[in-house]
Amino acid sequence: MNPTCPFCKITSGEIPANIVYRDELVTAFRDIHPVAPTHVLIVPNKHIQSISQAEPEDEQILGRLFTAARKIAEVDGITEGGYRTVVNTGAHGGQTIFHLHMHVIGGQRMKYPMG
Ligand code: AMP
Ligand code: ZN
Repeated sequence: MNPTCPFCKITSGEIPANIVYRDELVTAFRDIHPVAPTHVLIVPNKHIQSISQAEPEDEQILGRLFTAARKIAEVDGITEGGYRTVVNTGAHGGQTIFHLHMHVIGGQRMKYPMG
């Protein structure tokens, strides 16, 4: 836990969030500024700053981000239509909160191009 990290405050319950899924490794909650009908963030319960700080021993957590995304998509009914998963890393990647997170975005057709 990083005491100044907004997502650590959410995983620890210090600040509220609309939590849609939680297990021993990850917590998922609705983005406060959704860009689509479904916009959920999945974060490790452990503070990992970004992909650039992820270690081999974190591989179970990193895999869980994807299987949690599958569950969230099923609950929100967007599996058939499809959805986008995004992990921004560092300044050029557009990361603004430095606690690793996967965006799950869907419920409408995504726009291209990316980048
Ligand atoms: P990124 O730009 O990839 O770092 O994404 C950070 C995301 O966190 C943005 O989409 C924000 O809208 C979202 N966000 C920031 N603070 C909160 C919060 N307290 N609860 C939910 N989502 C948040
Ligand atoms: Zn954190």
